[in-house]
Amino acid sequence: MKSTARVVVIGGGVVGCSVLYHLARNGWSDVVLLERQELTSGSSWHAAGGLFTVVRPNSAAEMHRYTFQIYRELEKESGQPCGFHFTGGLNVCRTQDEIDSNARMQSACRRLGIEGHFISLDEAKARAPVLDTSRMVGAFWEEEGGHVDPASATHAFAAAARKLGATIHRFTPVTATTQRADGSWDVVTDKGTIHAEYVVNAAGLWGREVARMAGIELPLMPVEHHYLVTEAIPLIESLGFELPQINDNETGCYARQEGMGLLLGAYEKRMRHWAKDGTPPDFGHELLPDDLGCMEWNFERSVEIMPCLAEAGVKRVINGPMIFSPDLGPLIGPHPALRNYFCGNGVMAGFNQGGGIGRVIAEWIIGGEPSLDLFNWDVARFGDWASRKYTEDMTRYFYENRSEKIFPYQSFPAARPLAMSPVHDLLAAEGAVFGTGFGREHVTWYAPKGTEARDSLTYRQPNWWGPVADEGRHVRQAVGLYEFSDMAKFRVSGPNAGAWLDRIMANRLPRPGRLCLSPMLSDSGRVIGDFTVSNLGDHYLVVGTYAMQLAYLRHFRKYLPAEGVSLTNLSDDLAGLSIAGPNAQALISALAEREMGTAQFRFMDADRITLAGIPDVATLRVSYTGETGYEMYLPKADQPRLFEALRREGVKNDLALVGLRSLMMLRLEKSFAAWGSELTPDYFAHECGMMDHVRLEKGGFVGRDAAAAYGPARERPVTLTVDAGDFAIWGDEAIFLDGAPVGYVSSGGFGPAVGRHIALGYLRPDAWQESGRYAVEIFGQQRPARLETRPLYDPDGLRMRA
Ligand SMILES: Cc1cc2nc3c(=O)[nH]c(=O)nc-3n(C[C@H](O)[C@H](O)[C@H](O)COP(=O)(O)OP(=O)(O)OC[C@H]3O[C@@H](n4cnc5c(N)ncnc54)[C@H](O)[C@@H]3O)c2cc1C
Repeated sequence: MKSTARVVVIGGGVVGCSVLYHLARNGWSDVVLLERQELTSGSSWHAAGGLFTVVRPNSAAEMHRYTFQIYRELEKESGQPCGFHFTGGLNVCRTQDEIDSNARMQSACRRLGIEGHFISLDEAKARAPVLDTSRMVGAFWEEEGGHVDPASATHAFAAAARKLGATIHRFTPVTATTQRADGSWDVVTDKGTIHAEYVVNAAGLWGREVARMAGIELPLMPVEHHYLVTEAIPLIESLGFELPQINDNETGCYARQEGMGLLLGAYEKRMRHWAKDGTPPDFGHELLPDDLGCMEWNFERSVEIMPCLAEAGVKRVINGPMIFSPDLGPLIGPHPALRNYFCGNGVMAGFNQGGGIGRVIAEWIIGGEPSLDLFNWDVARFGDWASRKYTEDMTRYFYENRSEKIFPYQSFPAARPLAMSPVHDLLAAEGAVFGTGFGREHVTWYAPKGTEARDSLTYRQPNWWGPVADEGRHVRQAVGLYEFSDMAKFRVSGPNAGAWLDRIMANRLPRPGRLCLSPMLSDSGRVIGDFTVSNLGDHYLVVGTYAMQLAYLRHFRKYLPAEGVSLTNLSDDLAGLSIAGPNAQALISALAEREMGTAQFRFMDADRITLAGIPDVATLRVSYTGETGYEMYLPKADQPRLFEALRREGVKNDLALVGLRSLMMLRLEKSFAAWGSELTPDYFAHECGMMDHVRLEKGGFVGRDAAAAYGPARERPVTLTVDAGDFAIWGDEAIFLDGAPVGYVSSGGFGPAVGRHIALGYLRPDAWQESGRYAVEIFGQQRPARLETRPLYDPDGLRMRA
């Protein structure tokens, strides 16, 4: 065995083999995969191999699409068949909600050109004669659906990687991974040690154990998963063609043809965790004792639409383990606590996603960043708060509720609350409805007295539609108070603080007492962060998106000098409050021990001030609503005092408590971009309207050269008002011009002051026409839309500066 390699991949399941292949395909052939036993000795050998491509969000759809399309190429390259069956897929709709859900995915998938459309029930029956369509209200057809043979597909990745010069050692368990001072790794096996620049943990069911070798805990928990295969079914034998992949999301079931019978798999209503304390080291090509009772609920419902199941004998039952993260999404990318350590873990659908995951991990290792926004699957989306108990509760919830729809803005009840603001109980007493992000509770809206403080779940206008618009109008007319702890906050100080920040931020740093908005760019010029940077004299306060804090830190540390900069993550130590509205200045003036008039504390000023007797409250005059606004950050213990003082004094200013959804609606009226929808690493700065905040002339910052050499923009931001009637716009809808898709909505909602449905989104640059005939596709209907060239509310920004 050789003693050095650029990359060692640990684990020879579909994910590890795909990573190895993509590294080699991109020219890194000095790469080694170490497999404990035979290849596929985890979940990969017994998977059902079902494939589908119509999914959301866009990054997941791209992973599925890429994986689906690579199998044919792989067969040619490796000479190894993947057992690829290109059958198409059929989604069963039993309810209007399921039709709506498919229509939303159909619209979203237009962005990538993934083809899917509704077909009549007669056509559904013709394509899948096993269906009894009388229980169905609709059927959706996915062009790119089918299945592969899991072991063959895994071996095809391995064979293609070998042909490109990669090395695979089977029966070579990794027993330790030790990091050297320079960030490289010693990967230890009983056949010798390999010194590698990078390690990839693709150990599947053993992801936790392999992570612990490097001193980290991954939030993963294995579960049992059943499918059964029937004896031959006469109806299928008589067909003369292969059935499509059938997905019945409302029962958590999937089915496909296997031989002349059916394979039926289920996300069982009664789920069982497996090996909670650790995956046995000697587990290999084995199955777990089956218990079809777990999938009784699912089976009974499947018989309703595939009656031939009831008569068919069961030939084989597979109960195999797979391993999940708390939200069932993969954990991929560089681990934020380690250098040169990549995760490819918790992959729920390796045969749908494994090709794409291999591609992006290889991009990330070789080029330092992936080619699309992957935050939904980034290992950095979970912090230490994602404990074993949290992971157990969440995996159970999402697995057992897989047949439930996921609605816009939905917050799930499992494993909550974890972290709360000091004023949480006070807010709850006022009717606050809470959401959660990165383990922390935040107020989404306040239910008016006498109404239920809970979101109704619908794709149409939910119960909070009116109250949130009322909150927004209150901010426009008087003043609103937001609990605002849910922000990432970093303190940067030391003699080199300015120089370092100047290097990682694309904007010019503010003078003492001022703040600026600044994007953070990757080396290739993608937008990977968006901050408010305040110069508070002896330190900078850097504020960004709460959920991104570990992803930010990962990037910050890449450029952090060995000395001269002190960087502290204060996200959970500092609480926040924010007020906005025409009365905000009067309110803050009454509490502040300094002049807060427009002349003394201007728009974009920042200071540490004494408020209600509390010293050193970092106060920023910024506006995300379009009204005069202040963000105030202070130690958690002081938050209740300031909160009470604001409320007491606020009586004179008509202060109301307002939730973050109203903020998201108000910013639509201003065409202000939001991180995660308009601003993501999918875009370069010139494509998402950020060039005003990129100071090329200051030189020497990360991404500067790339930004100076940007090619033509692929997309252009747009604001539309939409005649959406009783519908709602949520994001991901396709935008049409003269009947052809030309863009997509990145976020949408209802403008409280302008009283219009608003969509922010992106258009192909050649599709920008001031008086074009636009439409936004909502549940399959093209609703007329108008392109707005200026923000709808206070386009000159006079109110926020007042
Ligand atoms: C019943 C069932 C049905 C499924 N159906 C589908 C489906 O229809 N479609 C789909 O896309 N997915 C399906 N899946 C999921 C799919 O099987 C997994 O997503 C996929 O196999 C995960 O692959 P992996 O490479 O991450 O992990 P694994 O397959 O678990 O591979 C990890 C490998 O790492 C090796 N390893 C572990 N520790 C070490 C070590 N210390 N040193 C060296 N090697 C090590 C293991 O031996 C193993 O070979 C199904 C899963 C199950 C259980």
